Amino acid sequence: PSPHNNELRIELRLMPYGSEQILMLARDVSKIYRLEEMRRDFVANVSHELKTPLTVVRGYVEMVQLTEHSLDPQWKKAFATIEGQVTRMDRLVEQLLILSRVEIQADDEEKHSVDVPKLLYGLIDDAQWLNQDKQHKILADIDETLKIKGVESELKSAFSNLIANAIAYTANNGEVSISWQIEGNKAKFSVKDNGAGIRPEDINRLTERFFRVDKSRSRDTGGSGLGLAIVKHVLNHHNASLSINSQFGKGSEFFVVFERENIL
Ligand code: ADP
Repeated sequence: PSPHNNELRIELRLMPYGSEQILMLARDVSKIYRLEEMRRDFVANVSHELKTPLTVVRGYVEMVQLTEHSLDPQWKKAFATIEGQVTRMDRLVEQLLILSRVEIQADDEEKHSVDVPKLLYGLIDDAQWLNQDKQHKILADIDETLKIKGVESELKSAFSNLIANAIAYTANNGEVSISWQIEGNKAKFSVKDNGAGIRPEDINRLTERFFRVDKSRSRDTGGSGLGLAIVKHVLNHHNASLSINSQFGKGSEFFVVFERENIL
């Protein structure tokens, strides 16, 4: 047993050794697990602690904006900037909390029937708000009978991140198509846009925490670089896969495939 542990985790690897023998390697990975758990808890606690001060700052900024009608233009601008940055930090903290939640392996008991069509129609409604400035055409092709077994809150985060990205990384008046259909014996969700696209060398890194293709351009979109990391963990919990087809400068398609066992 490893020192200080209350839970022992061993990683076992079997590999061929010579032509007829097998080599078994056992490695104590308890410490790595514990450190990983500490990192997750730390991030979750810090994010949680940041929520209250942010709410207070936002409250006062909104109060000034609502009550001080005679503010000088430069102060008005300053308060609008503070509000914008607080909103951005709020979103980052929220995404960090979601990420630390989904990084923990979901319990099968948490999985229930999820009415994905209803969930998607709700997300498409919410997306109208994001789409106000962009004015994309949003198309939906949804099989209204197709439900799966899963954790609703997690699936909501994953789908909404993919939809929000398609809207954000597409220049105004673009087209975003959302589809939820049976394909073969699997269920497939896809979001297609005719936006910025992604270079092949960046595609494999997209789901890394804080990875953003173009930091200066991405800053304008107000993203955090955590969305696709959340998507990856959620899909792992659902034994689902994420694939990305993209042509730089032309557009991208992100699709998620759920196995037959998850379809209800
Ligand atoms: P962010 O908060 O930056 O959107 P994500 O993890 O959701 O973080 O995405 C990581 C990066 O992947 C983004 O910063 C962007 O560069 C790229 N990306 C994601 N979705 C798209 C898309 N539909 N089209 C082009 N680039 C995208």
